[in-house]
Amino acid sequence: MGEKRRGGEKTTDCEQEARGNDTEGLWGSVGKGFTKKMRRVARAAEDLLYPRRCPLCDRPVRPFGSLICRECEKLPVRVTGSTCRRCGKALADPAAEYCGDCLRTRHVFESGGAVFEYHSIQGAIYRFKYDGRAEYADWFGREMAEKLCTMMRQERWRADALIPVPLYEKRRKERGYNQAALLAQQVSRRTGIPVREDILVRVRATAPMKNKSLDDRRISLQGAFFACSVEDNRKSFIIVDDIFTTGATVDACAEALYHAGAVSVHFLTLAIGGAG
Ligand SMILES: [Zn+2]
Ligand SMILES: [Zn+2]
Repeated sequence: MGEKRRGGEKTTDCEQEARGNDTEGLWGSVGKGFTKKMRRVARAAEDLLYPRRCPLCDRPVRPFGSLICRECEKLPVRVTGSTCRRCGKALADPAAEYCGDCLRTRHVFESGGAVFEYHSIQGAIYRFKYDGRAEYADWFGREMAEKLCTMMRQERWRADALIPVPLYEKRRKERGYNQAALLAQQVSRRTGIPVREDILVRVRATAPMKNKSLDDRRISLQGAFFACSVEDNRKSFIIVDDIFTTGATVDACAEALYHAGAVSVHFLTLAIGGAG
């Protein structure tokens, strides 16, 4: 995919097509109506006042104005090569079609993909979720937008809307934001695909999933999500989340969306693997 530079920020061909939506997302409240030049000035001023931190090393990013240090950008491991046709995990056997997990598990979603191997970006995701580093969403979203463009082109995914995995309201208030929604907003800003946070809701809190087996995760998530009926002309969705581990959360979301009338549900996550 071709890349262009915009004020030190890398953009994709797919993003260029979606310029009409360039003021959405984190910049939505101040960006609308601004000229591009004014937005760049505002961003530079903000960077001066509050130096942007690098998602990988967590120090002020170098060179100034970038979303990630030039050296740190090489560190995370991208999911490449042969991947599982269902969950997008890298395959040890290039001749295989599905990973062991997907051979054992009947997933509800159609298919999906992730940008990075979880182990290589674990610390960044932890700070993003638990240490208030919401600013990391800019770089994460840029990478996810690029991945989504590739998947839509190669796998012929349809996408009427991006649906972030919702947090239970109490947890969202404690954290101050829903990390999946921040990622979806950044992907939307760069692709022009709208974010819908009004379709899928988490109606029940669930205990942390870490270290739980797949069966325990599925039991814990039963009835946790509810989706409103979807409009006739908008029925293909991409679920957006930070990590794909067993797929239990994405399956629970997909089940609610299909129940509400969705015709296709795929997923896009920042990372895959690990014990999320
Ligand atoms: Zn760095
Ligand atoms: Zn798989």
